Amino acid sequence: MSFMPEAKTEEELQVQQLKGLQWTVNHAYHGSPEYKAKLDASGVKPEQIKQLDDLRRLPFSSAADLKDGYPFPLLCVPARDVVRIHASSGTTGKRKVLCYTPKDIQDWSRFFARCYEMAGLNAEDRVQIAVGYGVWTAGVGFQAGCERFGAMAIPVGPGNLEMQTQFLIDFQSTVLCCTASMGLLLAEEVSRNRLLDRINLKKMIFGSERSSRAMRRKIQDLLGLEQLFDIPGMTELYGPGTGLECSRHSGIHYWADYFLLEIVDPETLEPVQSGEVGEMVVTTLKKEAVPLIRYRTRDLSRLIPGRCACGSILPRHDQLLGRTDDMIIFRAVNIYPGQIDEILSQIEGIGSEFQIVLEREQGLDSMLLRIEREQGLDADIDEKLIPEISQKIKSQVLVASEIELVDYGSLTRTVRKTKRVIDKRDGD
Ligand code: ZN
Repeated sequence: MSFMPEAKTEEELQVQQLKGLQWTVNHAYHGSPEYKAKLDASGVKPEQIKQLDDLRRLPFSSAADLKDGYPFPLLCVPARDVVRIHASSGTTGKRKVLCYTPKDIQDWSRFFARCYEMAGLNAEDRVQIAVGYGVWTAGVGFQAGCERFGAMAIPVGPGNLEMQTQFLIDFQSTVLCCTASMGLLLAEEVSRNRLLDRINLKKMIFGSERSSRAMRRKIQDLLGLEQLFDIPGMTELYGPGTGLECSRHSGIHYWADYFLLEIVDPETLEPVQSGEVGEMVVTTLKKEAVPLIRYRTRDLSRLIPGRCACGSILPRHDQLLGRTDDMIIFRAVNIYPGQIDEILSQIEGIGSEFQIVLEREQGLDSMLLRIEREQGLDADIDEKLIPEISQKIKSQVLVASEIELVDYGSLTRTVRKTKRVIDKRDGD
């Protein structure tokens, strides 16, 4: 049994997408007064959606629309048809609460089953689910998808390393779903206690946070894993499981039969050139309770042009490169800390911490990258590293930057989100 799209060609997929888009706009228009008002204000009627390009005529929606409608924003079905809610664990303002109909839950578990299929699992696999359960998080998505797929779900929840390792041994789990930081802790625990030959772990699926290349390498080495996968997702768009890397690991295939993805310039809201970084904007094609129309996710990524070597017709986006709030405009170029992070993580000899310092002198902007050397390295390495970093930044971000290397541990660390950008320029 396969959970891949019914469409076999890009053309068939587009026919389905258009149907889904027409259904969604019509459903939202007639189901939600908020959507009706937005669509009326933009002068688009549902019957005017005749081709996929008409997507661009539709108004954007955003987190503000969800917060304004608290507690059940943009609901397009009667509340009695809602069988579950999830909420985002935002720290400020009101929570974003999303409703699900029975079909929404079924759709979610079906495309989550596709994640496991994409990762090459089969019915023999045992999936230890070490992510949170509850209203904020969606361990239940991992579990429902696993059961639908037909593998064995072991719903443990997060934390408790001792129990996790015990289960890895007792149940011979082959797949672990967790955050990358927990994956690292567990890998170290297994390695410290010399348990590697007693466990049977082959794959890991990381949710919730971006895993750096260096971190992934370390986990893979410590546990002798075959493959690691990043799983994207957000509460607004069902939850985790909206795509997965295939075994070629050249980008994340996303489920284009369930949603449309646009990449736009967060300033102008115009589409960026194919392959360029911008804000991810999603439009759902099947979601009943709370469909999304051109929802601005604030997440940055880029589309990967062309078809993947694996042959799948499902398009790909890159891993997430940060949030639009983190965007810097430097000499008319949009720069994202995640891009810099991505480039730096490919260079041997530097640590994971860095700062971007922006200054303006006599009307001219300058950028300084302050980067920690790897633990144990001293300034002797600078002569070799600085030109290498400088050249990589220039060729990939297209700006010139000054580079300063500092000792390991000298940049401030916080438990919360690290402040990477220090902007000393006046005004914008
Ligand atoms: Zn592929």
